[in-house]
Amino acid sequence: MLDRLLTALGGMIVPGGENAPVREAYQQAAEGFFGSGTAFAFWKGRIALYAILKALDIGPGDEVIVPGYTCVMVPGPVIYTGATPIYVDIEPEFYITPAADVADRISPRTKAILVQHTYGFPAPVREIRTVADQRGIPILEDCCHTFGGRVNGELLGTLGTAAFFSGQWNKPYSTGLGGLALVHDQDLAARVRAEQAKYPVPGRKAAFMLASQLLVYEVCLYPSTTALATRLFRWMTKKGLVVGSSSSAEFESSMPANYALGPAPVQCRLGRREVGRAAANLAKRSHATQRYLAELPKLGYRVPRIPEHWDTPLLRFPLRVANKEQALAQAARHGVEIGSWFECPLHPIETDHKAFCYLERMCPVSEKATAEVINLPTHRRVSDRDIDKTLAFVRDVCRPA
Ligand SMILES: *Cc1c(COP(=O)(O)O)cnc(C)c1O
Repeated sequence: MLDRLLTALGGMIVPGGENAPVREAYQQAAEGFFGSGTAFAFWKGRIALYAILKALDIGPGDEVIVPGYTCVMVPGPVIYTGATPIYVDIEPEFYITPAADVADRISPRTKAILVQHTYGFPAPVREIRTVADQRGIPILEDCCHTFGGRVNGELLGTLGTAAFFSGQWNKPYSTGLGGLALVHDQDLAARVRAEQAKYPVPGRKAAFMLASQLLVYEVCLYPSTTALATRLFRWMTKKGLVVGSSSSAEFESSMPANYALGPAPVQCRLGRREVGRAAANLAKRSHATQRYLAELPKLGYRVPRIPEHWDTPLLRFPLRVANKEQALAQAARHGVEIGSWFECPLHPIETDHKAFCYLERMCPVSEKATAEVINLPTHRRVSDRDIDKTLAFVRDVCRPA
C-alpha cells in the first residue's frame, strides 16, 4: 500500500519519460565548468567510480591503490569488480596520501591509483603521475570533497585520467544523492559511456524518496537545526520514506542489488543549477575557511599551513581535539554543527574493515586522525554568526590535541 502510494507520488513529482536531454544539459554544464574532459552523471558518486573501474576493465587479480582514510564507499566498488584495494596511509597535516608512499605500493598488479582530495586539500597528483605515467597506470581523482578547488590555477578533477564527484547532501553541492564522472581520455570516455548506457535510471519510488530527502534538506538543514533534521531523517529512513545514502549491505563487502544506476532527472536538473552557482558556493566556503585559519590559532590551535599556490576552499574544516567524543556529544546542545569525518579508516564505524582488506594498524596516521579530528562547517548556510558560535564552542568545550 505504502509502496503503491509512493510510486504514484513519485511519478507526479519526478515524471519518468525523457531523461536524456536533462542529463546531457547537466553533463555539458560540468564539461563547461572544467573546460576539459567528458562528463557522465550517475545516481551516486560511488557509481561513477564503479563505472570508471569497469571501463578500465579492472577485475579479479588486479590491485587499486586507495587512501586509508576515506569512506567505505571508495573500496566498495573496487571489491565489487573483484580487485583488491591496497591502502596507503595519509600525512597528518592535510590528510592526503604522500606521493612517495603511493609509489612504494605500486606492484605489477596495480591497475589504478585513486587519490583523494581530502576535505578539499589537494593530493599530489602531479608528483604521483611522474611514477604512474611511466608505467601507464591511470590516476583517478576522488573529488567528492572539492568542486572548483585549484592548484597552480589548475582545477582539481582535471589532473588525472578521470575524476569522480558526489552530489550527496553534505558534499560540495547537493543533488540529494548524485554522482559525476569526468574522463580525460577519449577511449576511456567511450567505455564509460557504454557503462552508463547499461545502468537503468532509478524507479519512481526511489525518485520520490529522493525528492522527500531533498525537501528535508531544504527545510531543515541549518546549523542550529541539524540535530533535529538528523533525527527526522533517521525516522523517515526507518519508515522507508527516504533513501539513505547507503544500504546496510554496503557496510559488508557484497554488491547490493540495484547498485549501478543512472541519474534521476531531478538530480540532473539540480546538478545543472548547482554547477551554475559553483562560484558563489566556493566564495562562501573560502570565506569560512579563511576565518577558521585566521582565528583558530588565537585559541591555541595549530592550523594547516596552506601553500601560496593552493586555492582550495574546504568542504569541512578539520580540527584535532583531545576530547572528540565530548565535543560531538555537546555540539547539538550548543546549536553548532560539528562533523566527524572520519570515525575510522573506512567510515562509518559499522564497517567490517577486514572484509574490505583493511587490517588494524595498516594506516596508523589515519587511525590517530580518526580519534582526534572533528569538522567545522563551511557550507552556504553557515553565516558569520554561526562561525562565531562555532569558534566559541571550540574555545569553551574543546581542547587542542
Ligand atoms: C561521499 C564520498 C564518496 C561517495 O560518494 P556517494 O555519492 O555517497 O557515493 C566517495 N569518496 C569520498 C571521499 C566521499 O566523501
